[in-house]
Amino acid sequence: MLVTAKDMLKKAVAGKYAVGQFNINNLEWTKAILTTAQECNSPVILGVSEGAGKYMTGYKTVVGMVNGMIEELGITVPVALHLDHGSYDGCLKCVEAGFSSIMFDGSHYPIEENIAKTKELVEICKKHNMSLEAEVGSIGGEEDGVVGMGECADPQECKQIADLGVTMLAAGIGNIHGKYPDNWKGLSFETLAAVKELTGDMPLVLHGGTGIPEDMIKKAISLGVGKINVNTECQLAFADATRKYIEAGKDLEGKGFDPRKLLAPGYEAIKATVKEKMELFGSIGKA
Ligand SMILES: [Zn+2]
Repeated sequence: MLVTAKDMLKKAVAGKYAVGQFNINNLEWTKAILTTAQECNSPVILGVSEGAGKYMTGYKTVVGMVNGMIEELGITVPVALHLDHGSYDGCLKCVEAGFSSIMFDGSHYPIEENIAKTKELVEICKKHNMSLEAEVGSIGGEEDGVVGMGECADPQECKQIADLGVTMLAAGIGNIHGKYPDNWKGLSFETLAAVKELTGDMPLVLHGGTGIPEDMIKKAISLGVGKINVNTECQLAFADATRKYIEAGKDLEGKGFDPRKLLAPGYEAIKATVKEKMELFGSIGKA
């Protein structure tokens, strides 16, 4: 059964570890992440972007697949199904479809509008027993067509949003989506500490977890980050393993073209990446 992200993140912040959010794209991704979480006895958050939701034909399909898999694979660790960077309408659709958690990304709105919309969603999530992630200060990256250097959120604005009663808060601290450019300046621990100071026990969310050096990840966790989003890294691992299989000509040997064989190395690569992240985040054995 799906759970909200609330309790798992509260425990994570208190225990000084972080729960990974791993984005899913299809059945192989979902199965790889769920089975790894179960093997590692770790809580897990399955992230679904609006684009991935569309790709999988809609949020109801996603809910059906995830719920079915949890039951048929006998998954007993806490699993949250979470909309990643949702629009206001996307959030409402996921509430209706049966997600257990949503992120409303109102960071591109003026702060007043971000607050007004987030406030409405706080009430909706309360009614449906769901967790809600809000974002302050945009998180740059390749999505915008340009690789930005990563913005830092205004700690006062973070407090304003946190006080609305959201479950967790994504604040820009110099992190970006996708691969990090060579001249990246690193995370701003000053910003993180200032946000933490004003938001208390609110679990903070670190987006763009691919390529942040391990010592920075650990320091961020020690400063109150309770959820870390990983997406690109699983995609790179999957693509790399699949490329090797085909370049080695294995799809041409015997029944190597069978999709269950063709996709197996990528599936295993996702599993290895997820396990590595769970080790780094400290969530193993915390289910
Ligand atoms: Zn993000």
